[in-house]
Amino acid sequence: MLIVMKTDATQEDISRVVEVVEKLGYRAHVLPGATTTAVGITGNQGPVDPAHFENLPGVAEAIRVSKPYKLVTRDLKPNKSVIKVGNAEIGGGELAVIAGPCAVESREQVFKVAEAVAKSGAKFFRGGAFKPRTSPYSFQGKGEEGLKILAEVKERFGLNIVTEAMDERGVDLVERYADCIQIGARNMQNFSLLKYVGRSKKPVLLKRGMSATLDEFLLAAEYIMAEGNYNVILCERGIRTFSNHARNTLDLSIVPAVQKISHLPIIVDPSHGTGKNYMVSPLAKAGVAVGADGLLIEVHPCPEEALCDGAQALTPIQYLELYQQVQAIHKALCEYEEVFV
Ligand code: PEP
Ligand code: MN
Repeated sequence: MLIVMKTDATQEDISRVVEVVEKLGYRAHVLPGATTTAVGITGNQGPVDPAHFENLPGVAEAIRVSKPYKLVTRDLKPNKSVIKVGNAEIGGGELAVIAGPCAVESREQVFKVAEAVAKSGAKFFRGGAFKPRTSPYSFQGKGEEGLKILAEVKERFGLNIVTEAMDERGVDLVERYADCIQIGARNMQNFSLLKYVGRSKKPVLLKRGMSATLDEFLLAAEYIMAEGNYNVILCERGIRTFSNHARNTLDLSIVPAVQKISHLPIIVDPSHGTGKNYMVSPLAKAGVAVGADGLLIEVHPCPEEALCDGAQALTPIQYLELYQQVQAIHKALCEYEEVFV
C-alpha cells in the first residue's frame, strides 16, 4: 500500500497517517518528493484495506502496490533520489566519479592514487580494506589498518570514502572510518547483511550480483530500504554470460531499465564490468552516454604490481584523461537536454 498525500497536506496529516499505519502493526516509510509526500507501508503479509486511509485529512489516494518492491519505485517517489555521501551528492545531476585502487595495499600506493583522484576534481575515493577473493590464498585486504589509511586520505584530500564491508563486523568498522558502505556483487543476496546495513545511518553502494536479474537487484535494494535506510546507490558491474572476451558482460541496458522503475541513482563500474585495461575507457564513456549517474573506476600507480585486479586498473595518467572525457560527454548530454526539453 502506498499513500499519496495532497500537495497541501500538513506535517500533522502525515503524522496521523503514520500513526494509523503503526496502529495496524505495520511500518510507515515517509518519503518526501518535490511536490508531494508519499507514505509507503511495509510489514503487511496480505493486502491492506485502503479504507483505513482514504478519508483521513491530507490524503490524496491510497494505492495498492502489486509489484514485489515498493520503496524503490517511482510510484512511491516520482522524482529521482539524490543521495548525500559525505560532503557530496550522487544522483543530483553532476556525474559522480568514484575512483581508487581495487585494494588498499600500502599508504604510499593509496596516496599516489588519491593525489590523481583529487587532482581530477572527483569527489569520491574508493579502495578495499576487506577483499572478497575467489581464492582463500589471495590477498584478503588490510582490514582496519586499510580503513585508517582511507581515513587519512579523507583528511588530507577532502575526498569522500567508499569502501566494502563483507560482514556485520566489517560494517561496524567501515561506518567508523568511511562515508559510504559498499556491498559487493557476491553479497548482493546476503539478506542478513542487507538488513544490517539497512539499519546504518551511512549510505550504501549496492553492486549488482553477477547473475542477478533486474527484479532481484531492486529487491536487494528494497531489503535495505525496508529497514529504514533510504540512501542506496545502485551499481552495474557486469554479469556472467557465455561471452568470454571480457571478464564480465557490462549490461548497460539495466541503466534505463532501473531508471524507468526506480528513483534510486545508478552508477556504472566498467573496471569489473570488463576486467581489461583497454576496455575500461570506452565502456566508461558508454556508461555516461546511457545516462548513468556516475562511474566507479579502479586506478593503480603501477597496475602490473597490483595485489588485486591489476589487469583492469588504469594508471593515474589514463584515469586523468578519462575523467576529462567523461565529464565532457556528461556536459554535452546536459546541454542537449536543456535545448530539447
Ligand atoms: C570491488 O569493487 O573491488 C569489487 C570486489 O567489486 P564486485 O563486488 O563488483 O566484484
Ligand atoms: Mn576490484
